[in-house]
Amino acid sequence: MKVAFIGLGHMGAPMSRNVLAAGHDLVVHDLRRDAAAGLLAEGAAWADSPRAAGAGREAVITMLPGPPAVEQVLLGPDGLLDGMEPGSVWIDMSTSTPAVAGRVLALAAPRGIAVLDAPVSGMAAGARDGTLQIFAGGDAADFAVARPLLEAMGDPERILYVGRHGAGYTVKLMLNLLWFAHLVATAEVLTIGTRAGVDLATLRRCLLASQAASTFLEHDVLSVLERGDYDDSFALALACKDLGLAVDLAGVVGVPAELSAVVEQVYRRARAQYGDAGGEMLPIKLYEDLTRTPLRLPRPGTASASPSAPSRDR
Ligand code: NAD
Repeated sequence: MKVAFIGLGHMGAPMSRNVLAAGHDLVVHDLRRDAAAGLLAEGAAWADSPRAAGAGREAVITMLPGPPAVEQVLLGPDGLLDGMEPGSVWIDMSTSTPAVAGRVLALAAPRGIAVLDAPVSGMAAGARDGTLQIFAGGDAADFAVARPLLEAMGDPERILYVGRHGAGYTVKLMLNLLWFAHLVATAEVLTIGTRAGVDLATLRRCLLASQAASTFLEHDVLSVLERGDYDDSFALALACKDLGLAVDLAGVVGVPAELSAVVEQVYRRARAQYGDAGGEMLPIKLYEDLTRTPLRLPRPGTASASPSAPSRDR
């Protein structure tokens, strides 16, 4: 397939590499030309603008920070939409909202350009390994055409068609909202419990054996507890963007979201404290720093360590 890929960051660079490796003819574009260096060496071609990237392509994938960048790339000067041809499909894999994409859809449909939203979970490691989970929204027939291309980037068993246009964005935002809520709740619980004198490993083991167990407590939090790794591959700026979009969506559909708003504020505080580029798990460090209570388990392999569970994609 003739494909263009725009947005070559933590996620887009490895995803586009997998598209190329699957044998597709690839053109790439990013604000930063140096982000494409490796891909150009491997056989991709460079386009100077989104419009040039879209010309003559059957499918164009965007993997951009959020709605403002999507709007800029699609509808801005030298925008993608003006370069794309009838019969082609735009697949937005960014974590975004239907608001911008809906405006694009209104312009694209009369020109015979299909639009899919297909955001992902699985982090940078899943992007590298081609094992992303993908939630696709849009016309089912367009999804069927795009599916082989999506399979170059995702686990075929976890490429899910979730409904009409925008449904993919919604599923992804709800997934992240729930995960961030788990993170903040877990940070509070572990800090309170250990400050009250219970050994961290014991507290975690008891919680895992209870009805309060969670995937986050079992797998994801271990990168912090075992290695002090707060996951720099997903920036706090992007986490705050996702939480803002999720809380806004709650407002649009008329659902009170007090808990989500508190989680968003905790993330904003972590961003102010540790910076835009800090890792998504730094809200845990907020609690550690505020209470001078490091949350660390004995290293795996030492006598008192609990068995280490494998980490899991998100
Ligand atoms: P990133 O900031 O690493 O990369 C974004 C890329 O887009 C950068 O290379 C940037 O130069 C480029 N860009 C920005 N504006 C542009 C424009 N106007 N024109 C052309 N290029 C532009 O972000 P990322 O971590 O790769 O995330 C991308 C998207 O994927 C986000 O929506 C994020 O929420 C989502 N996501 C990220 C992860 C993760 O673990 N990093 C996981 C799932 C989903």
